[in-house]
Amino acid sequence: MNSLPDPHKKKARGRFAPSPSGLMHIGNALAALLAWLQIRKLQGSLVLRIEDIDTARCRPEFAEAAVRDLHWLGLDWDEGPAAGGASGPYVQSERLELYRQALDRLSADGLLYPCYCSRHDILAAAAAPHGLASEGPVYPGTCRNLPAEEAAERASRKLPSLRFAVPYREIRFTDGVAGERTVNAADGGDFIVRRADGIYSYQLAVVVDDALMGITHVLRGADLLDSTPRQLLLYEALGYKAPGFAHVPLMMGPDGRRLAKRHGGITLAELRAAGAAPQDITGWLAWIAGLLPEPAPLPPAELVPLFDLSAIHKENIVVTAEMLVRLHPSLG
Ligand code: GLU
Ligand code: ZN
Repeated sequence: MNSLPDPHKKKARGRFAPSPSGLMHIGNALAALLAWLQIRKLQGSLVLRIEDIDTARCRPEFAEAAVRDLHWLGLDWDEGPAAGGASGPYVQSERLELYRQALDRLSADGLLYPCYCSRHDILAAAAAPHGLASEGPVYPGTCRNLPAEEAAERASRKLPSLRFAVPYREIRFTDGVAGERTVNAADGGDFIVRRADGIYSYQLAVVVDDALMGITHVLRGADLLDSTPRQLLLYEALGYKAPGFAHVPLMMGPDGRRLAKRHGGITLAELRAAGAAPQDITGWLAWIAGLLPEPAPLPPAELVPLFDLSAIHKENIVVTAEMLVRLHPSLG
């Protein structure tokens, strides 16, 4: 039964947010395909945003490669660096003024403080090895209540980073894949919103961008599930409505390590060079995600009716050699 779209219902808006720090691998492709399927099924619109905030790690040729790879897979978007749109610019390095304004607001509300610690200080102060493994130990809050004279003395010697003072309370949210989550906001420690070298943090930039671009659906890899409570705190502090989140599984090798981390993972460029067809990749991705019982050569448009968040595997996906051969014989 076809139903007419409700004109009062806000149109769904999703996004691709590649960091151009390397070539797109099949893990990135899985998240991109699922984000596209979710929004196309909802008849919403998609934004491409290039997340090059960490300029030292990013290169323009990787942004061009990401655009080429997404198009090759059969994924399209409605707004982005080349397409334009009402919510631009769509490249983070061109949005610094917006991040600065957000920091000014947080700062005026007394939610930020300067931190003079080096990585070494933080490692030394962390009593137990715990926290988000990829980010090192949880910041112990050393500078949160520095006496004024000491802060002034330190400020004369070193440029501080800026941290968000996390409140002591629970944060609850419902993830579209992981389900109900309740975490203690303070567990992750006070996080950086601007580094000592002046670079705005991913946490700040992604919230400002998703909010100002009117994103209603964030679908991304499960590696960012632990970042979501911090981002929810920023939405609240900045007075923005948070989008819905869905964190899709990562691909792991049989050794338990992320496929993406092993030699840069399996890139789309490699698969293309080996003669793989894009519909073989999208059909294989849909299979490993849980949307198809068997891999089948299906382009994105034909996968739209099959998209269902509740069918997507909740656990990370262990990709065996036999599964890889079904993607392309060259991977056997
Ligand atoms: N730029 C991030 C990445 O490529 C994604 C950030 C996000 O989806 O929130 O891993
Ligand atoms: Zn500090």
